[in-house]
Amino acid sequence: MEEESLIIIGAGPAGLTAALYAARANLSPLVITGNELGGQIAITSEVENYPGFDSILGPELADKMKAQAEKFGARFEYSSVTEVDFAHGSPFVVRTYIAERRAKAVIVATGASAKRLGIPGEEEFIGRGVSYCATCDGFFFKGKEALVVGGGDSALQESLFLTKYAERVRVVHRRESLRAGEFLKACVNENPKIEFVWETVIEEIRGDGAVQEVRVKNVRTGKAESLRADGVFVFIGHFPNTQLFAGQLAMDENSFIVTDRLMQTSVEGVFAAGEAQDPIYRQAVSSAGQGCQAAISAERWLATKGGA
Ligand code: NAP
Repeated sequence: MEEESLIIIGAGPAGLTAALYAARANLSPLVITGNELGGQIAITSEVENYPGFDSILGPELADKMKAQAEKFGARFEYSSVTEVDFAHGSPFVVRTYIAERRAKAVIVATGASAKRLGIPGEEEFIGRGVSYCATCDGFFFKGKEALVVGGGDSALQESLFLTKYAERVRVVHRRESLRAGEFLKACVNENPKIEFVWETVIEEIRGDGAVQEVRVKNVRTGKAESLRADGVFVFIGHFPNTQLFAGQLAMDENSFIVTDRLMQTSVEGVFAAGEAQDPIYRQAVSSAGQGCQAAISAERWLATKGGA
């Protein structure tokens, strides 16, 4: 079986930055990308708060990070990890659909995925009006009526993006105040295409082949009504992609991997970075920073204990 020095699982900002630092430390890391190079930034429209870039498209930022890591010797495999065995210590076993490998050290950077509403019609209309990615699907709503769910930064940022195409964007939020930051709030307030539907939850998505309307309820008055919508874009937060490591790495009550200051998990030689272990900051730049920390820690660990 092939044995690697370091396998990085995931290729969002955390995994890609870990790859850059590990490559520059001559570890020739193998990155197993998972479904999406770039992770969540791959499905983000414009990134305007990554230092050094005034504004850059998410996928472009991911491509730049990958190219930079490759330049120094990182290797990429477009596959998904199906199973790991961390129980027997280093070298650790990492299986994908195509291969089984051993690695002296591992960095887990599997990120987080969009939460779903869990209401009738949601699953049924995914790809036919229900979306979790304005960048991917906004184009299909030219001149149409889009509805966004959520009151955080993602909901507002993606609403702004949707106004490039949609005739009107209605943001349905369950409270009467937004969680999003002041800058995005100001931009949204200035945009005449965006309207808010406050203190309201969606109870059902309906249509005939594609989304046509949603049933909503005002949580204060209890009043229910239908809103016309061609698209429903859901931005209600994320959950960590850590199911693969259940029972093998210590996690908190919300399934975030527990790490120490060195990004070390409960298993010596396995490190974690980014949103798989960060319930607090969840920014592209903080994930990148944690990827850097994990790579430096992994390198030091390999140089002392792990290389033995
Ligand atoms: P978030 O901050 O967790 O916001 C989720 C929103 O969805 C909240 O408004 C929440 O309502 C609502 N929500 C949650 N569950 C719901 C449900 N079941 N039904 C209806 N509404 C529900 O998530 P996010 O907006 O994806 O942001 C994640 C992180 O990324 C944050 O740290 C954010 O700052 C960051 N981010 C930053 C930027 C930027 O700086 N430009 C852009 C995107 C994301 P409540 O408010 O009532 O809880």
